[in-house]
Amino acid sequence: MLRVGDNHCHLNPVRGMGVRAFAKRFRSAGGWFVGLVNLTSWSLGVTAREPSDYERVYEATLGAARELREEGLAVAVILGPHPAELARMVESGVRPERGRDVVMRAYELAAEYVRRGEADGLGEVGRPHWSAPPAVVRACNEVLERVAALAEELGCAVHLHVERGGAGTIDDLASRLGRLRGKFVLHHAEGAYAGYARDRGLIPSVPGREAEVLAALSGTSDFVVESDFLDDPRRPGAVVAPWSIQRLFTRLIKSGRISESVAERILVRNVSELYGVEPGDL
Ligand SMILES: [Zn+2]
Repeated sequence: MLRVGDNHCHLNPVRGMGVRAFAKRFRSAGGWFVGLVNLTSWSLGVTAREPSDYERVYEATLGAARELREEGLAVAVILGPHPAELARMVESGVRPERGRDVVMRAYELAAEYVRRGEADGLGEVGRPHWSAPPAVVRACNEVLERVAALAEELGCAVHLHVERGGAGTIDDLASRLGRLRGKFVLHHAEGAYAGYARDRGLIPSVPGREAEVLAALSGTSDFVVESDFLDDPRRPGAVVAPWSIQRLFTRLIKSGRISESVAERILVRNVSELYGVEPGDL
């Protein structure tokens, strides 16, 4: 049975389907690993004004990770405010510089969890994927560059959230981060640009959809796959279901569009190398 590592997934212990129910369902569809990224503060019912408000977001995520592990899944916990947090603060009247400082200090708190070995990476950090005021984009880019440097110093992965702008977006990231040697994971990577991103030092995390995966495979097999599951019962169709990934890859293997060993590399080995986790026996 094909094992599945989902590189980028969110769980909502407050409003979602239940962490243990998720784990059981994912495990029954080959799931062995979850890259668990915290949700936004507001989806967890937290009002974030100060950096310390993010502690509650991080703790909720670490609690979910504990339950996943108890259910037999390997987990990498990725902590830090989403770029939308900064955009929202500015919309509510906070100055962009102040918003940037709050978010940056929240990332320093996240880094403490990584240092203590309680979390495994930072993110998702970057820019809004929608059009935002220039001052917000500038502040977001400052956070992005500093968090990438922080991740390099910690030797941990960082999940990058940016607009899907093809080669232009990747070139921009490469010029911002090119001097660094970190594990820069390009979240929601465009399949068609996975090879291009890989060649520029990024690790593409491609949505688990047929067209995206096939497009990525035409350029590289050095990528990971993600659901970006939001665990929001009100938006069931917004994302890929983690339990559909095994079905997709099985279909691709059966129709001869991917070999079993390449599937294993993408869903197991690349994830294992990225986070230093062992798949064990499932
Ligand atoms: Zn996400």
